[in-house]
Amino acid sequence: MDTSKKELKSMCAKCDKKICYPLAKSDDPLPPIENAPPFCPMRRLPDTIKKANSEYDRTEIREFARLASIQEAECYELTPEGLRTKIPRLEEIIQFARKCNYQKLGLAFCDGLRDEAKITSDILESNGFSVVSVCCKVGQVPKEHIGLKGNEKIMGAELMETMCNPITQAEVLNEEGVDLVILLGLCVGHDSLFFKYCNVPCTVLAVKDRVLAHNPLAAIYLANSPYYGRVKIGTNQKNSGKKVVIPENVRK
Ligand code: SF4
Repeated sequence: MDTSKKELKSMCAKCDKKICYPLAKSDDPLPPIENAPPFCPMRRLPDTIKKANSEYDRTEIREFARLASIQEAECYELTPEGLRTKIPRLEEIIQFARKCNYQKLGLAFCDGLRDEAKITSDILESNGFSVVSVCCKVGQVPKEHIGLKGNEKIMGAELMETMCNPITQAEVLNEEGVDLVILLGLCVGHDSLFFKYCNVPCTVLAVKDRVLAHNPLAAIYLANSPYYGRVKIGTNQKNSGKKVVIPENVRK
């Protein structure tokens, strides 16, 4: 790798060329990689790309990827009016689990979404799956065990708070022998630990967003508006030319 490439990093999010996903007929040649921008990972890390692509030569991985891509396509419908979407994510998960012939599903949920977990579990069961569900508070471990002080707990020093315990949550599901784990509302960071310790394939039904009805993309969709423009402060204070009132706590 030459020095100029070393100073770069992969930045697909900034790419407007999309050499990796050309609009072309299926028998057209793929566009040359040299046409991609210099920050393209295909140009910067060809050996990594080649090695990663070879993983699909493994029979199990290839089959999993094949079924996932079939499922992806089945979520759309090509109509004379154009491409339409067909099903919500919950049904997508159910259809994919059936394709994989999975019988036993794990549900790793946040205690704050207990009602949603019960409904999800009932729905999965009524679709023929056996469901193992594990709450984030499993293990009954006080937060002091990982070094939290009283003033670092949600409800203050006086009350007992057991910690979110994604490692134990993952290990219970590993031990229960589930085929696929579905995450429901785990906190940021707790989900990271869960992924690190869970040995079976995972998918996410929903992530937690405490103020946006568990729809974090609402902040992204509103990032160019005055309503959530504050999320861009620090990278682009101009905010599309609109005057933004910067709250005290983010001015420093
Ligand atoms: S892989 Fe390359 S061509 Fe594709 S989006 Fe990323 S930078 Fe662009």
